Amino acid sequence: MTYFDYNSTTPLNRAAKDALFDAVDGQWANPSSPYKVSARVRLALDTARENLADRLHGKGTGMVFTGGATEANNSVIRYLAEILPQEKGLAISAIEHPSVMEPANHFFKGRLDLLPVSPEGVLDVDHLGAVMAAGRPGAVSVMAANNETRVIQPWGRLGRICRENGVAYHCDASQWFGKCPNYRFDNCDFLVGCSHKFGGPKGVGFLALSENWYGFRSVFGGPQEGGRRGGTENIPGILSMVAALGWADRHREGMLAQKDHRDVFEDRLIRGIPGLKCVGKSAPRLPNTSFVILPIYENLRWVTKLDVKGFQVSTGSACATGKTGRSPTMRAMDFTRGESRRTIRVSSGPQTGPESWADLAEAFLETWQSLKPDASCDGLTEVISV
Ligand code: PLP
Repeated sequence: MTYFDYNSTTPLNRAAKDALFDAVDGQWANPSSPYKVSARVRLALDTARENLADRLHGKGTGMVFTGGATEANNSVIRYLAEILPQEKGLAISAIEHPSVMEPANHFFKGRLDLLPVSPEGVLDVDHLGAVMAAGRPGAVSVMAANNETRVIQPWGRLGRICRENGVAYHCDASQWFGKCPNYRFDNCDFLVGCSHKFGGPKGVGFLALSENWYGFRSVFGGPQEGGRRGGTENIPGILSMVAALGWADRHREGMLAQKDHRDVFEDRLIRGIPGLKCVGKSAPRLPNTSFVILPIYENLRWVTKLDVKGFQVSTGSACATGKTGRSPTMRAMDFTRGESRRTIRVSSGPQTGPESWADLAEAFLETWQSLKPDASCDGLTEVISV
């Protein structure tokens, strides 16, 4: 098997696995209990919090461990809806992950602005400027990198604009960590990360708060996480997540090298499959990802054939798999329905070698050859846009 769906989820990396097994065995006590064995667990938790905060150039006091990015995003949007004055709304990009889009629609009904993106999938910052000038948003939510196209958003600039205008900025950076440097997220008020996208376990994530928003609360109950998220902490998950990010940072070179392998792969596909398009090719993209629109045949047919050959690729975002119709990202980028059904996303890990990329390119070309005789059957119907 050659796994090319790292943006959907990753296998546990070496450090994450070691930390997870060690913690399951040795750090099982409740960190809130008043005896020595618990004090050791509490210390491990505090150390993990400081370690993570250091990596993000932030403060441990503002770091909240969560049950993943969906929870963190939901809780931020709900909190903002509660805390902002009624006349203030939320502005989000039209390509946000459903874990932002859905709560935004729910909690900000009637006071939500959707910010458009260019045909390459990059947020239109001028539009945000116009929305700001109208004085409506009390908060802005724009992701660091899109979960389908993997096009990087101008979050650094957005953060600065929000800060200058006294508007809160929420950034879902789930796809950023482990692939790009742990940049200074200074201007983010709410920064979200997702463990299983960078080699950690599933069901764990984090929310880094700026000092302006230390009053944030999501789950009411016990005093855990500074009272912001009650409930006994998932110690093995948290320790494993922080170890995973350390490993990913140490293997950054491997991740950056993916860009060259990816570019060779795309050139091979463009030469071998007439009419194939690479989305976001001239926009800044994550180094490990290629998002293509095939000229013909529904993506699931390609995915199945490639799977038989031993390659796992995705039709788009994992969350969109199985859903019919265009995802908000595809709609925002003006893809036709036909195009949306012919997209494939390929994403690699830091240790994926050039030979695996070359083998995948060959598998695509073979699949193309094997599907061609079916052109008179259902395949052709897929290119008709409705
Ligand atoms: N945000 C983005 C951009 C994602 O890609 C994902 C996962 O696909 C999530 C949020 C949800 O993360 P989790 O699986 O931790 O809830």
